[in-house]
Formats: sequence, structure tokens, C-alpha cells
Amino acid sequence: MKLDDALDQIAELPDFPEPGVVFRDLTPLFGHPKAFSVVIDALADAVGEVDQLAAVEARGFVLAAAVAYAKGIGVTLVRKAGKLPSVAGRVDYQLEYGTATLELPADAVRTGQRVAIVDDVLATGGTVAATRELLTEAGADVRSVAVVLELAALGGRDKLGDLPLHVLRTV
Ligand code: 5GP
Repeated sequence: MKLDDALDQIAELPDFPEPGVVFRDLTPLFGHPKAFSVVIDALADAVGEVDQLAAVEARGFVLAAAVAYAKGIGVTLVRKAGKLPSVAGRVDYQLEYGTATLELPADAVRTGQRVAIVDDVLATGGTVAATRELLTEAGADVRSVAVVLELAALGGRDKLGDLPLHVLRTV
């Protein structure tokens, strides 16, 4: 299966989570055995040479875990607030409406460790920027970001500065 055909499995749900927004739903892609592996292989190529991956719950976990397995490296699971028994760092960030908090587990990354962030969708870029901040404050060397979809109109890549961003499809 070609990467483009795999990415065509992503569904568009109009008016979710609110009127006028088109939600990109990766559920059919996750459920398709060939499309999922094609996308995982493409992300594994995209992240390049790193020691560790990092992902934000929940869809990022699915992708990053599979990419980590493909590359023979580990994965750090960045959590939404209040779920971790022991926290290395915490960051508040802006959502389209309101704010959210992400937490990095204690002892998740080592100083100087080369890390790539993996997620499903780059929208405003707030989630990836906050994840990068957490990892950097913990001493990691954040090398790149790899996402399946970039929603270009929301300008997320501008929040990443010169951090290399790998996108499988831009819409
Ligand atoms: P951002 O922080 O870049 O505005 O939003 C990105 C985060 O919100 C990602 O972790 C992603 O899971 C989620 N997100 C935002 N828009 C969409 C969307 O259209 N589809 C999916 N699947 N996730 C989205």
C-alpha cells in the first residue's frame, strides 16, 4: 500500500467538536492493518537518528509506541495533569479555548538524550511546543517532530521555530 492510500484512510468529521470545525479522525487508519504499518514505517523514517521518542496521550501513544518498536528505542509518555505518581516537570499551555497542563514522568529522559516528538495532528502547535519545553527543561536534546497530519491553516509550525518538523500530509 502506498503512503498516500494509507493516509486516505483518515476520515473527516465536520462540525466536531463544534460547528465549523472539521475533525480529522485517525480511527479508520489505526484500524486498518496495512495502512497503520505503512504510516508507522513512514514516521520511523521521518524521526531520524534519536535515542528516545516522546508522545502526548492519547493518540500520540499509539503511534509513538509502534514507531519506538520499529526503531528499537524507548518511548516517554507525556501525560495530561494529575495521572502521574511522580513528576519531573509540568507545563501549562494554551488551547484554542482555555488552557491545559501536561506532565513529564520522573526519570523519563536523561540529560543530552536525543528525543523526537511523535503525534497524530499538528494544529495550533501548542501541544508540541509544550512537550518540547517539558523535555528541554528535563535536559533532553529535542531533535525533531513527526506528525501524521499538519493542519496548515492553524499555523502550528510557526511555534516550532527551527526545530525540524516532518509531516506525512499537510491539509
Ligand atoms: P494543537 O495543540 O497543535 O492545537 O493540537 C494538537 C493536539 O490536539 C494533538 O495532540 C491532537 O491529538 C489534537 N487535535 C487537534 N485537532 C485535531 C484533529 O482534527 N484530529 C485529531 N485526531 N486530533 C486533533
